[in-house]
Amino acid sequence: MRLVEVGHVAALVRARGVEEVLCDLADYIEADYRRWAEFDKSPRFASHSSDGVIELMPIADAQAFGFKYVNGHPRNFEAGLQTVTGFGVLADVATGYPHLIAEMTIMTALRTAAMSALAARHLARPDASSMAIIGLGAQSEFQAIAFGALLGIDRLRVYDVDPAAAAKFVRNMEGMGLRIHVARSAPEAVEGADIVTTVTADKKLATILSDNMVGAGVHLNAIGGDCPGKTELQPAILERASVFVEYQPQTRIEGEIQQMPADFPVTELWRVIAGEAPGRQRVDEITLFDSVGFAIEDFAALRYLADVTKDPRFHRQIDLLAQPADPRDLYGLVGPVRVEAAA
Ligand code: NAD
Repeated sequence: MRLVEVGHVAALVRARGVEEVLCDLADYIEADYRRWAEFDKSPRFASHSSDGVIELMPIADAQAFGFKYVNGHPRNFEAGLQTVTGFGVLADVATGYPHLIAEMTIMTALRTAAMSALAARHLARPDASSMAIIGLGAQSEFQAIAFGALLGIDRLRVYDVDPAAAAKFVRNMEGMGLRIHVARSAPEAVEGADIVTTVTADKKLATILSDNMVGAGVHLNAIGGDCPGKTELQPAILERASVFVEYQPQTRIEGEIQQMPADFPVTELWRVIAGEAPGRQRVDEITLFDSVGFAIEDFAALRYLADVTKDPRFHRQIDLLAQPADPRDLYGLVGPVRVEAAA
């Protein structure tokens, strides 16, 4: 069984270049969205506590079963920990044997950014060239680079309540060919931006964007509101926007649309990707990708890792599954060692 650790993913991204990895991940995700009907899907299992949530995200097609373990703990930062961490498993449907186990903290940031940019390719105005990012934590650089690589966005207007987060973002983006304006407030950041990404973390119904901050023609990429009781947009924005979601049964519970009536109209993004529904239809339309993160994106990321980590630089083999020589003699692995009597 192959184990892909944090160091392996870091080595892979350094070897290939982060832009190339993001573009490849977007291709894998797009390919899986196109064959939506082939997947056995369900909303994720979520175990909530006062400070966060722990989730399991399963999905399968006829060949492979995958799942991700992931958490969301906005206050972890205070203890020097990540808000979001995870690992994932890919198994063979025919035998039930898992064959890949992988870190999914960096991979979640990469797949989320690839997914955001893929959605924006269908929903943002084709002439979009600037993006505001509100929330400059762990996900933010990945988002910025993905929008640069997939859409050519090279002007950023960024804001975080924590000036240290903004300084870290600017430092990490040095030499990437981006023009970055660090704003002193969220309204200043969104001024004139073609795309607005909200990627803050707080377990509450927050107002990161209010209705008066969103002008005609803008594409909203709302990432941070991703569990019950955790949103970023004022509901009035949703009334004015065309709303696109990953998987309705999950987003109705977890997304920005948890603030709206159960029959609030939305379009599942796979329909747009597969050419069954229109994306943006007018230049002055407000489009919203109400992102919560769906299992199909992790499945695509695990498929990608299975394909690109065969080189021993990018994995190690582990002894996780008991494999006695005689499959019926599992006890033989733990029972007393028998010395066969000499004939
Ligand atoms: P993080 O804790 O590293 O960063 C969050 C940043 O938001 C921090 O820098 C914080 O100072 C800033 N912030 C908080 N409130 C703010 C406000 N009112 N205005 C401006 N900035 C503010 O978290 P992260 O790993 O970057 O994740 C961000 C969010 O994205 C989390 O809520 C996480 O659950 C979510 N997420 C969603 C997906 C998805 O697929 N939709 C995937 C990964 C993470």
